[in-house]
Amino acid sequence: MSQKTSKEQLLKKLYKQFSHCSDFPLETTGATRVVFGEGNPDAKLMIIGEAPGKQEDELGKPFVGRSGKLLTSILEQAGLTRYEIFITNVVKCRPPNNRKPKPHEVALYKKLILLQEIAIINPRVIVTLGATALEALLENGTKISKARGIVQHQNGLLIVPTYHPAYILRNPTKLNDFAQDIKFSKSLL
Ligand code: URA
Repeated sequence: MSQKTSKEQLLKKLYKQFSHCSDFPLETTGATRVVFGEGNPDAKLMIIGEAPGKQEDELGKPFVGRSGKLLTSILEQAGLTRYEIFITNVVKCRPPNNRKPKPHEVALYKKLILLQEIAIINPRVIVTLGATALEALLENGTKISKARGIVQHQNGLLIVPTYHPAYILRNPTKLNDFAQDIKFSKSLL
């Protein structure tokens, strides 16, 4: 059995335990499905966002709305496709009215799914998009305003914090920084 097949199978087994948003003991009003990670289970680069939005909830895929389109184009500019990396979110069900996930929700999804996803994929580099993903991983109060673009080391993993693409859509002057961070992450692979 190839390494890829076994990682794929491990992910399937993990995801199978959470088929419905009601499987999580959380407020999931308005979420119609669980949005798991997608991409290459053998990826060396993993990208972690916050939570699915409306379009992600409708299609069951991470980063397929406006933020996702921006992310995909910046990845392509850096010479990366979505299918060679692995893209996921901390929170797997759309929060009610797209509100920011609460700390107890982040903690639960991290424990139930995210940590297992990271262990299975075993990437070399993780890019965190926005404050929620950065805080979820580091849990040490590191602020994105200070840490953006600076490698953080955790258990042999290289974590590159950058802006969330939704923030870039609201603040296009930061687009170059965002694009540079993605290119920089590729150079670390
Ligand atoms: N924002 C996120 O954080 N994740 C998505 O999948 C889409 C938008």
